[in-house]
Amino acid sequence: MGEKKDTILKNNLNHTLFSWSKQKGINPLNVDKAKGVYLYDHDGNKIIDFSSGLMNVNIGHGDQRVTNAVVQQMEKVSYVTPSAITKIRGELGKKLSEICPGDLNKSFFTVCGATGIENAIKLARLYTGRHKILTRYRSYHGSTIGAMSAGGDPRRLKVDVHQAPNFVHIEIPYEYRSRGANWEKDSFDQLDRILAYEGPENFAAIVMEGESGSSGCLKLPKGYFKKLRQVCDKHGILLISDEVMSGFGRTGKWFGINNYDVIPDMMVLAKGITAGYLPFGALQVSDTIAAHFDNDPMMLGLTYSAHPTACAAALAVINIYEEDNLINNAKEMGKYMEEQIELLKRKHPSIGDFRNTGLLGCIELVKNKKSKESMAHFNAKPEELKVMDKVKAKISELGMYTFSKWNYIFTAPPLCINKKQIDEGLRIISEALRIADEYCE
Ligand code: PLP
Repeated sequence: MGEKKDTILKNNLNHTLFSWSKQKGINPLNVDKAKGVYLYDHDGNKIIDFSSGLMNVNIGHGDQRVTNAVVQQMEKVSYVTPSAITKIRGELGKKLSEICPGDLNKSFFTVCGATGIENAIKLARLYTGRHKILTRYRSYHGSTIGAMSAGGDPRRLKVDVHQAPNFVHIEIPYEYRSRGANWEKDSFDQLDRILAYEGPENFAAIVMEGESGSSGCLKLPKGYFKKLRQVCDKHGILLISDEVMSGFGRTGKWFGINNYDVIPDMMVLAKGITAGYLPFGALQVSDTIAAHFDNDPMMLGLTYSAHPTACAAALAVINIYEEDNLINNAKEMGKYMEEQIELLKRKHPSIGDFRNTGLLGCIELVKNKKSKESMAHFNAKPEELKVMDKVKAKISELGMYTFSKWNYIFTAPPLCINKKQIDEGLRIISEALRIADEYCE
């Protein structure tokens, strides 16, 4: 066992590269298998997965129903050129049109979230004949050049030279740190001002996460999505909801934007569409936009668009959300998570805020609840993350994997989680937070 584990580690470290990371001195999780909400390493240790991989394994790990669907499809045909049709491609398109809001009835299938965003931007520009795209600072839309330029995540600053032109960002303040009672109105006014400065007639689209994810689950001011819809209608701008993380039950509804009663013109889907079982995504488009290309060629294409095996995984996963009532479970378990973290807030001086929708949650750690001084600030350097690194190390040592950055710890377990497993996860987080509490004033 020891030798096997060491060989696996050596092969990985010597011959593969790791995202967003220095390549030396890393200590990656060495995963052997996974089931439900648990990962297992090569020593047989059980690790609770409290962020569903990268907030994508929504149905939980190791579901045989997906394996069966994938194998059955591969036995018939694994791959065909995207200009060909298959039974599974049509069935998946039909199913997506049933669960997506409004008249978002047509899918262009992609291979991941970033390829969905790139194609959404391209299609919006082709459709409107305009060039600018408005997005939010403190958002993430993927790591390819267009998607990265669209996002407001500071990772793009390290590769600033690659940023594409014609992306304009707005800063939507977040409630916990906003100053003054007028923050909602101020944020609306700022949107109007920025559009006026940049010329609303130049904007092809506004791209917004259906619910803020890895930037800290930052809730929008009340009515903000509706205001965006109005602004878009007024100026002929398309509204694109990035549902890569917030889609497929993550927020207790099919899609994040369903929580706001707003219908976008396009949605970008990935992650939960196959729950990570295979890489896949979709750009979901309204009938009106699709009709624009009835007689004009639609200049989008990917070798792996509508990949039959990935389509089979997606349809099986969507059926599992329904069969296992997972979206309702996400809502119920989300409420339970909120109640339990409310109790933890009283116990831990380091918990400043907890923002959550369904099972997409983020604990924000502070040194001082009154002044709200952060335990580690936005885009903190490695040497400023010493306390957070200790907290993270403790979380791992106690048998949990979860996504965390700066002073944020995310709580986004698979949607099949139960109360007992939430308690188990929160016991680990609480134990690790004792370290952070020691640094509170
Ligand atoms: N959009 C959002 C909201 C995301 O959270 C992500 C990834 O985390 C992406 C897009 C990019 O997706 P992918 O990593 O599949 O390209």
